Amino acid sequence: MSSITKVEALKNFINGEWVESRSDQTETVPNPATGEALAEVPLSNREDLELAVEAAERAFESWSQVAVPKRARILFRYQQLLVDHWDELARLITKENGKSYGEAYGEVQRGIECVEFAAGAPTLMMGSQLPDIASGIESGMYRYPIGVVGGITPFNFPMMVPCWMFPLAIACGNTFILKPSERTPLLANRLAELFKEAGLPDGVLNIVHGARDIVNGILEHERIPAISFVGSQPVAEHVYKTGAGNGKRVQALAGAKNHSIVLPDADMDIAVTNIINAAFGSAGERCMACSVVVAVGDIADTLVERLVKEAEELTIGNGMEENVFLGPVIRQSHKDKTLQYIDIGVKEGAALARDGRNDQACELPGYFVGPTIFDNVKTDMKIWKDEIFAPVLSVVRVNDLTEAIKLTNQSDFANGACLFTDSAKAVRQFRDTIDAGMLGVNMGVPAPMAFFPFSGYKKSFYGDLHANGKDGVEFYTRKKMLTARY
Ligand code: NAD
Repeated sequence: MSSITKVEALKNFINGEWVESRSDQTETVPNPATGEALAEVPLSNREDLELAVEAAERAFESWSQVAVPKRARILFRYQQLLVDHWDELARLITKENGKSYGEAYGEVQRGIECVEFAAGAPTLMMGSQLPDIASGIESGMYRYPIGVVGGITPFNFPMMVPCWMFPLAIACGNTFILKPSERTPLLANRLAELFKEAGLPDGVLNIVHGARDIVNGILEHERIPAISFVGSQPVAEHVYKTGAGNGKRVQALAGAKNHSIVLPDADMDIAVTNIINAAFGSAGERCMACSVVVAVGDIADTLVERLVKEAEELTIGNGMEENVFLGPVIRQSHKDKTLQYIDIGVKEGAALARDGRNDQACELPGYFVGPTIFDNVKTDMKIWKDEIFAPVLSVVRVNDLTEAIKLTNQSDFANGACLFTDSAKAVRQFRDTIDAGMLGVNMGVPAPMAFFPFSGYKKSFYGDLHANGKDGVEFYTRKKMLTARY
């Protein structure tokens, strides 16, 4: 079996083997911190996809019949292997994605937690019965796997997001075709290798590298009944509409614009530390990043001053180096787009409280943008409306909590929202009236753990059953009702 660190031309993983793509098109995968080429990823074609579907279909016949506790045992072995390879996986994430090693280490943990949750399949897949729905008649609900599931993932969490999908789908008895982001394809290969080492039969997990042609192939394929997608809003909408139009079960998690409301009674140290982490950690390339601060009342000046001061002190550089907090964004094109957004913000009349364009690190060969903070942002500005997905934070100023919630609820997105306060009454008002699916109180990134659903809505999610938790089990199983008279 090939070791990823030596692989230059990546291959697909089909039926437990590394298979060269039928396509001669490739894309270079650079290390975003240096620009140095790490690998060539194939942009596979429909022939490659067909091979994967055939392998997954064949594997489904036997895998779906394996007793659930036996399937779970392979997940337990997989969990141990991931723990054993924690450092290696974290380094690989930093290398291909750019986030700091500490962030990557945390991401591996979140991925492992998904495997731990999936290993509970024997309990999670239980149905329910009622012995007497009528005299002498009983009724019961039983869960079964669906078949071949397709998974399409983004660049920003090369481990955690694929782990939201395939461990649970597979534990439930499905087989899986993963199309990882072509911008971070290395980690996925390692995940597949380790799963095979844990004893996963060939064909149960397949990886087809590529871009939009493979996504569209999955959306159109008659023998892929369910699709999990995570990525940007326009693509999520396309995936949901096309997939559902083709009769598939689809969950499509999309973009975000997460607001953090800071009330005058908040502990300012907690608020500033958490907002800085949430806005600039992972270079702002998180669907749960804090991209807007809503400063309530007369604390606004102090809050902006303190955010700017903290941002000044962040260490920017290669995420592999110790103490580096802010790594590069994913590509030069994304850096260019981010710089354009900063220009737009200035033209729109927002006050540039900290300009990240001129930090020394921006001269390095990688794709660095320094932490940028806009003050006095208004809701008619593009920098407030759009997901920039970079280390750019907007501050809007309002008079009270009701106004803050009203403003937040105007966003097209509804992934996460946070409140910093000391007041239980304010927390209750926030929880009951905010339009967002994942809420944090006095904390920055309220991403739910694997046993709860990742529950964004509005333009942050297309579908009804979310990823993870019981929603995930519902999504990856179909129910049969048995009504019997004896
Ligand atoms: P992206 O939409 O560019 O890519 C996601 C996947 O879709 C990739 O595998 C890519 O190959 C494919 N794709 C891209 N363009 C396509 C097209 N035109 N047709 C078909 N397929 C296409 O997203 P990204 O830049 O890799 O990831 C960042 C985005 O993901 C952000 O918007 C972020 O908010 C979102 N995200 C959301 C969540 C969530 O839970 N809601 C989690 C992580 C990331």
